[in-house]
Amino acid sequence: MPRLILSLIVFTFVISLELPIQAGKRDGHLDVYWIDVEGGAATLIVTPNDESVLIDTGNPGLRDSGRIAEVISKVAGLQSIDHLIVTHYHRDHYGGAEVLSTMLPIRNVYDNGIFANMPDNPGKAYFEFRADKRHVINPGDEIPLREVAVGSPSPKLLCLATRKSFIDPEKVNAADNKAAGSLHRDKDRDGSDNANSIVMLLNFGPFQFFDGGDITWNQEKRLVHPYNLVGEVDVYQVTHHGLDSSNNPIVLSSLKPRVAIMNNGHTKGCAPGVFANLKATSSIDAIYQVHKNLRPDGTVNNVPDDFIANHHEPDKCEGHYIKLSVAKDGRSYTVAIPAHDIQREYQTK
Ligand SMILES: [Zn+2]
Repeated sequence: MPRLILSLIVFTFVISLELPIQAGKRDGHLDVYWIDVEGGAATLIVTPNDESVLIDTGNPGLRDSGRIAEVISKVAGLQSIDHLIVTHYHRDHYGGAEVLSTMLPIRNVYDNGIFANMPDNPGKAYFEFRADKRHVINPGDEIPLREVAVGSPSPKLLCLATRKSFIDPEKVNAADNKAAGSLHRDKDRDGSDNANSIVMLLNFGPFQFFDGGDITWNQEKRLVHPYNLVGEVDVYQVTHHGLDSSNNPIVLSSLKPRVAIMNNGHTKGCAPGVFANLKATSSIDAIYQVHKNLRPDGTVNNVPDDFIANHHEPDKCEGHYIKLSVAKDGRSYTVAIPAHDIQREYQTK
């Protein structure tokens, strides 16, 4: 066979081998992955420009950082983390950062830095892991994402609150929400760093996604009362893995999400009170769980199996992720559990 034809055949074969990695890229969608970090948090946003934003890094050790690196490189086909946001200094959120920084380059880190009266300190290894730039984030800051080509909305990722301070209501044209306050009952104050969580709002055209980290009940009230600083959203990451020290019902009734996604563990989250409040929120059409709740109360405090990514005990867990994909005009989105061939479509509100 002539050498040119042979090398063309080889070249074509190599190209087609590369294709699966490219699939999903450059399709104009904005994707969000809930990576299974066993009851911690690791939410990956991939913009239509293939920029990556990772919110939280799971637990220390190889397991969680390995799963995160695999989704970024093998599933999303990317080589680095452009922006890492660490919502607060608990191990299930910052713990994977140091190891992850040895697996993939991290360009920018956004966190609360070192601040007065820090209730929890992640320590030297966290503050010294490899990253090109570190930024202390403040309410009103926007993560610098590139504009998308004309004809498509550009994603916007805004910090609404952090370290118990909140964005100026005028900056987000926040609606007066004073009546909601009458439904609020204070809970015992959470003195840990949860209350200092960074709260992010992502929008892509009309589509809105809320990630409040582990922000706790009394601070949640301040997000929606006396002004609703968030507005209404499409997708709500169930705050604090579905624990009932968070997920204040006045947040749910103000944000009016259509889809709720809970990054719970096998025995963490899925709190009966949170379930009751989610189910009582009339705007919610679907609740997804990263794990099946295997506690004795799991008979009632679980969604149907085909809304759950992982069903087995920790030692048999396969670490499946949930994937959200927003259409290029932002008007509809799918939620998928690719490992189980499950995919459903929803209209943006
Ligand atoms: Zn947590």
